[in-house]
Amino acid sequence: MSLQDLMIHLWGLYERRNRIFLPSLSARINFLNVGIGNLQDAIRKNGDVEKALASVVARIFCVANHFWKLPLIDFMVRKYPAGICTYCHKGSCQCPERRIDPVLISDSDSEQLSWSLREWCKSMKEIYGKRNELKGLENCLNRLFKEISELLQLTMKIPENDLSLTKMEEEFSLELADTLAWTIAIANLLNIDLEAAVIKNYGNGCHNCHNDPCECTQSAF
Ligand SMILES: [Zn+2]
Ligand SMILES: [Zn+2]
Repeated sequence: MSLQDLMIHLWGLYERRNRIFLPSLSARINFLNVGIGNLQDAIRKNGDVEKALASVVARIFCVANHFWKLPLIDFMVRKYPAGICTYCHKGSCQCPERRIDPVLISDSDSEQLSWSLREWCKSMKEIYGKRNELKGLENCLNRLFKEISELLQLTMKIPENDLSLTKMEEEFSLELADTLAWTIAIANLLNIDLEAAVIKNYGNGCHNCHNDPCECTQSAF
């Protein structure tokens, strides 16, 4: 299954529930933030890390689903092209501590658009695996939390900057692509098959209520 299809599956699974309980963008970003906190707890306390990672992926898609057909995967392809680091352009990332701003590729590669989450994980491991191993798991978790503040900053910019709808969608797609990339980095560092974890928890309906679409009430999540 392509990552795009996986995202659409999760949108279908949780849209009904999320429209009721998480109607605002900030509520969804908060929901993602709590999910990352749960992941940190699971890592520290030897909990179910696979489930917590799968939940972070589901919550990233929940934020994306606040928008109308957000082009998240297109921006994943533009920001993270196959075979090279988007910042230093090396096959195995050798970025300095402070990275320069990335240059987005203009056309998204059609083959990469059909990549499964597993293919994404493999590619990201080849490019960023060594650097992330050197910098450690704590660094990846910090970077994932930092993405939340970037999402919130973007939310606060909306009324100030009067961005066009397309520009707004692009900026949120880019931030969510980064969030997904750091989630993948953590799964790779822990040698967890992220796609298998997502399918296990969400492939056959909601892992909690077992319905598709989910019928969990607020107390259940
Ligand atoms: Zn690099
Ligand atoms: Zn449910």
